[in-house]
Amino acid sequence: AGALYVVATPIGNLEDISIRAARTLLSADVIVAEDTRHSGKLLEHLKRERLNGRFGHRRTIGASSVVEDEDAALNLAQQCTFVSLNEHNSKLERVEYILQNCIAKGQRVALVSDAGTPLISDPGALLIEQAHLLGVPVVPIPGPCALISALSVAGQPCYEFTFAGFLPKKSTQRLSALENLLKLDSQCVVLYESPFRVRETLAAIQSVVEQLGKPRGVTVARELTKVHEEILRFGSIAECVQHMNGLEGEPRGEFVLVVGPVARQERRADADLLELESDEAVPLH
Ligand code: SAM
Repeated sequence: AGALYVVATPIGNLEDISIRAARTLLSADVIVAEDTRHSGKLLEHLKRERLNGRFGHRRTIGASSVVEDEDAALNLAQQCTFVSLNEHNSKLERVEYILQNCIAKGQRVALVSDAGTPLISDPGALLIEQAHLLGVPVVPIPGPCALISALSVAGQPCYEFTFAGFLPKKSTQRLSALENLLKLDSQCVVLYESPFRVRETLAAIQSVVEQLGKPRGVTVARELTKVHEEILRFGSIAECVQHMNGLEGEPRGEFVLVVGPVARQERRADADLLELESDEAVPLH
């Protein structure tokens, strides 16, 4: 029966594809992709890897070898159909085509984005919503995600976090988004940012943190899982801004910014102050 598989793909290092993700993509009838050329290359890579026995056991019999896995029944040269679904064409018509002409006819459809987990600052929301409305099985195939990878190495407490994706481009809207995000002392805040705006965004974070008067640590995670991976943890936003502004040339690569929660002692001091104020306000009997 048809189903919609939501498949996470690598954010840099191709070895991060899970065996289940690889098998799902290799056996899909249709791959719905943000950029079909980009995902086509990933599929070609997976086909080569499967030939090398990467996703199953390779058994050698005399001079020939046999790939033994549940995909073995599949024709290795099998071609799946690619359908593009991106922020420009994610319209109801296209979504209905995928649901009615593919999944309803029993096809296995895999949704991927260019990198990481679909729907995390990436397209696909309408497709998933409509699939649920039609009662189509929606199956997660979890894996890489820049947000979670950055949080896991940031060294900032993240028992609670808010992910805000990309902030608005206009500076007034960006500042008011930051004011709302940083109002909550206990939340770690995670943002995605392009190399062209990362300095501006860090300066905006600095102005809001300083205006609120409660220090926070910051971690800049750059090029996660790639050759030039860099994880820089700063005790304060001022240190971070100073470092980033001191770099030669423009920043390069992909960035995740992790702003830590307000330090516990700061929060405690705040709570004590409130208690004191409320004690004072209580009429003495
Ligand atoms: N769906 C993706 C995910 O699961 O992380 C995110 C897609 S979003 C369009 C792309 C943004 O994610 C980049 O601008 C950057 O902020 C972040 N990102 C993606 N890959 C990254 C990497 N390898 N290192 C750091 N940030 C990355």
